[in-house]
Amino acid sequence: MAVVEPPGQTEDRLSLDADDPPPKKRRRKVKSEEPVVYDIPPVESKTTTYQGRLGYACLNTILRTSKPDPIFCSRTCRLNTIVKKGLDFAKDLGIRNAKDLCKLIQWNEENHIRFLRISSEMFPFASHGEYGYALDYAAPELKAAGDLAKSLGHRLTSHPGQFTQLGSPKEEVVEAAVRELNYHCSMFDMLGVGADGVMIIHMGGVYKDKPATLERFKHNYSTKLTDAVKARLVLENDEICYNVDDILPVCEELNIPIVFDYHHNWIYPSTVPLTELIPRINATWHRKGIKPKQHLSAPRPGAVTVMERRAHAGRCATLPDELQAEGAGWWMRDGRREYVDLMIEAKDKEQAVLQLYRTYALQPVVWENLRPEQADAEGAIAAKAEKKSASKGAGRRTSTSKGEWGVAV
Ligand SMILES: [Zn+2]
Repeated sequence: MAVVEPPGQTEDRLSLDADDPPPKKRRRKVKSEEPVVYDIPPVESKTTTYQGRLGYACLNTILRTSKPDPIFCSRTCRLNTIVKKGLDFAKDLGIRNAKDLCKLIQWNEENHIRFLRISSEMFPFASHGEYGYALDYAAPELKAAGDLAKSLGHRLTSHPGQFTQLGSPKEEVVEAAVRELNYHCSMFDMLGVGADGVMIIHMGGVYKDKPATLERFKHNYSTKLTDAVKARLVLENDEICYNVDDILPVCEELNIPIVFDYHHNWIYPSTVPLTELIPRINATWHRKGIKPKQHLSAPRPGAVTVMERRAHAGRCATLPDELQAEGAGWWMRDGRREYVDLMIEAKDKEQAVLQLYRTYALQPVVWENLRPEQADAEGAIAAKAEKKSASKGAGRRTSTSKGEWGVAV
């Protein structure tokens, strides 16, 4: 009989807090000796000439629910806990996160996934203005993870949070953004990964004046960032405030690569056709000697409004045709094809990658590591709830949709 386990946690963080009441003891169920068998539906097979690396962001849904010890890299805590228990509490979580990164990379290798976004929460509060700390204490763990990634040819990237806004008119926001970038940069430096270890941010909010915000970004980028940070910083087009047309001139002027996000471009498109646009975007990477990467996600089924269209589906059914085009999905280097790396930003994380592997016969999959699709069903419920709350308090969402903070993924 097919047994379906409860949905795995798809959030990429877990709060461990000393102040939380201890979990209630559950009565142990008698364990069944029978292994769980999942009902994995067939996929519709499709073809592509694209042969690049597919990756996923931060969390592995199988390892996160593994027993007895879940494996993940985003253990965090509340600031209050640091105040009460001391910084070592947070730093210890960082060590556990860094140690688990090795296990994540190893799992990825066994499943032919060689591209991973590392969690920004690896070291809780490391970039905090008051409680921030250097990562030297975790040098051995970071070096071990970086060495493993390098030896296996895996690419590691990161995506600092949506509050990392260098164009903000608020000085404290810019200072926090600089600290956040310095933290990510030192993490990459200590992992020992090369130029392909990029840090992706969005331009952020427009603050009622897009040209002025872009000017502030340029000024802060040029005057407040170290060369090491500039070498790793890349910008992504978003779906609300800044499309590719908005950021491309800035990126070409300052020599900043662009992460092209298909989903965002679908919601807030560039005026330039993709056949022209993506090669121009790839050039922003090539001239810096960094391998281009793009983002792919799909909207949830039945999404109609902008808010619904922004949300990511559990998986992606199709790879974009552009990936097959020379200059967009691949280019010639030393007489052979080199492919763009594609980050799959889907709720089902590694399962979305494995599904694309099966759909396009890109890589073999380990059947035992396949899970049934969960997130769309959850997503549909969440979308309904979102719709309900939006219609109840229409004014509440406007600041997020058009205002200060832009978007995150
Ligand atoms: Zn994205």
